[in-house]
Amino acid sequence: MLADTKTVLHAVFGHPVAQSLSPAMHNRAFQELGLNCVYLAFDVTDIGSAMNAVRALGIRGASVTIPHKVKVMEYLDEVDAAARRMGAVNTVLNEGGRLIGSNTDGPGAVAALREITELSGKTLLLLGSGGAARAIAHAARAEGAAIVIGNRVEDRAEAEALASEVDAAFAPLGDVRSVACDIVVNATPIGMAPHVEASPVPADLFRKGMAVMDIVYNPIETRFLREAREKGASTVDGAAMFVYQGAAQFSLWTGRTAPVALMRRVVLEKLSAKERG
Ligand code: NAP
Repeated sequence: MLADTKTVLHAVFGHPVAQSLSPAMHNRAFQELGLNCVYLAFDVTDIGSAMNAVRALGIRGASVTIPHKVKVMEYLDEVDAAARRMGAVNTVLNEGGRLIGSNTDGPGAVAALREITELSGKTLLLLGSGGAARAIAHAARAEGAAIVIGNRVEDRAEAEALASEVDAAFAPLGDVRSVACDIVVNATPIGMAPHVEASPVPADLFRKGMAVMDIVYNPIETRFLREAREKGASTVDGAAMFVYQGAAQFSLWTGRTAPVALMRRVVLEKLSAKERG
């Protein structure tokens, strides 16, 4: 569909954004549903000015990505309770000039995990305590999972703060082998290209019956996921979390059910093209 005077604008704001998979994913989804909408990428350093632009131009929905997920909260009219708990916003909805922030990273991770496991009553070992880990910890806790945070000891203050917010135990990354858990999630960048031979944990952590997710999606199957699969664990890749967080944004902005399978196909095509170089 060609843009016209009625086209509804959507955008991603980040720095950098050149590698973002979101424009391809959302634009293909708009097209599939015959919606007169477009999604554009803006590389911005001043997120406050970007939010003024959202109001001034009547942009309906925005994704907010690194490094603006925390700072953006200062410029919104409302931040929902879950995003406030997570301490970060990745989604903005413009309701007639009123900007409402939410966070779909945590629910996206939970939806991806649901492909392979229930969360209620399970123990989830979460590797990392950064922005994505925070969102996942809060969302998984809300689903009834018990959390153990595995983090390198140098930055224990941040990990311990998160652990106390979600009533979690803490284990140094080097000692996680002794943690009894049902689910393991890598929320560190370890294993991301070009360091594809790295893994945050030894392979003998994994066993049959575990559910394992890596939120790194470049490569699609990291060493962490490959080793988990080889030990008989159920696995889900980071592309699934990415697609589900995007699907939740799409529904929020359009009021329509997102074409998740198509969005996943688009993302996997883009990632495969990147892996081929
Ligand atoms: P972040 O805020 O920088 O947090 C990174 C976490 O990993 C921190 O806890 C950090 O520990 C730990 N870490 C980093 N390097 C480490 C190392 N060499 N050894 C041990 N721990 C290390 O990053 P983020 O935004 O949470 O993102 C993390 C990863 O998730 C990135 O690869 C990102 O691309 C990916 N991600 C994927 C999705 C998705 O939809 N699939 C969504 C968001 C993010 P310290 O605190 O000690 O530094």
